[in-house]
Amino acid sequence: MDRKILLIYTGGTIGMKQDPETLLLKPFNFSQILEEVPELRKFDFHIDTLSFDPVIDSSDARPEFWVELAGIIRDHYEDYFGFVVLHGTDTMAYSASALSFMLENLEKPVIFTGSQLPIGMLRTDGKENLIDSLELAAACDAQGHPYVSEVCIYFETELFRGNRTTKYSAETFSAFRSANYPVLAEVGIHVKYDTTALYRPRKWGKPLKIHTKLDTRVAVLKIFPGITEAFVRAVLSAEGLRAVVLETYGSGNSLSDPWFLDALSGFTARGGIVVNITQCQAGAVDMGAYANGDILRQAGVCCGRDMTTESAVTKLFVLLGQYSDNKEVSKKLEISISGEISEK
Ligand code: ASP
Repeated sequence: MDRKILLIYTGGTIGMKQDPETLLLKPFNFSQILEEVPELRKFDFHIDTLSFDPVIDSSDARPEFWVELAGIIRDHYEDYFGFVVLHGTDTMAYSASALSFMLENLEKPVIFTGSQLPIGMLRTDGKENLIDSLELAAACDAQGHPYVSEVCIYFETELFRGNRTTKYSAETFSAFRSANYPVLAEVGIHVKYDTTALYRPRKWGKPLKIHTKLDTRVAVLKIFPGITEAFVRAVLSAEGLRAVVLETYGSGNSLSDPWFLDALSGFTARGGIVVNITQCQAGAVDMGAYANGDILRQAGVCCGRDMTTESAVTKLFVLLGQYSDNKEVSKKLEISISGEISEK
């Protein structure tokens, strides 16, 4: 009964209403969301709410927004058992990944959720997502520890590790997928937790530490057949660029044109970081599998294994913010910080 959950509303479809004149979806007042879900009063724990002002379409999410969100969690960390963050789906995977790296020593649930249809609509998926997320955030074991002690996304009966997710559908209610890591909990008649997949702190009671210095001098370069030398060189010569997330084919293979390898080696020789991430939804980069992967290794490219692009980008923001030496960042990049990379 002494469990308290903080529900943080940042925006997104879940809290939008159709403007009768323009027919566009626009955010509406947070207090109205609670009116739409009177079921929230039935929980045997207390829910406090806090709204961003202004609320945003998550397409407008940016690092300053993550810093504000991390600050709210830090400021309220001791007072709450867990946190549920209502957020638009478009960049939810980025925000959940970013927070997973920014909140060091997290031992409490931070569950992102939202919906594909606004909460006021008859067929909305928002009510179920909200109610289930609150229940998951308040779930505790016999010792009183939370079942969930990491940053997650909950959508359409499934709880995912946040930094393993990607928005998969702009249509179905199952908007997210985690292709390289198991679902942490399945909500049906019973809630089935995968205790082997859920993160458990080895020792409880470490103080939360937040990282709020983010360096965004990162580019994402997706290769495709026919990519031009001028384009690649233009990206790699962007002023101040410190790191590139290189989206490659299959298990980490790229074109083998000498100009491409020359451009990459030139960037890494100048101290730039290139991390290899596959364009595939599932599976991992293995630069030792094919000659077209090995050439990247020789060009000084780091292995991103099975990290998502969302994780690679936000992990770089946090590591670049922490270390001014790119060599230090490269070392940390290939090691899992918050369960974003599978063990070999
Ligand atoms: N554009 C919306 C957002 O990401 C879409 C959604 O909420 O699903 O904020």
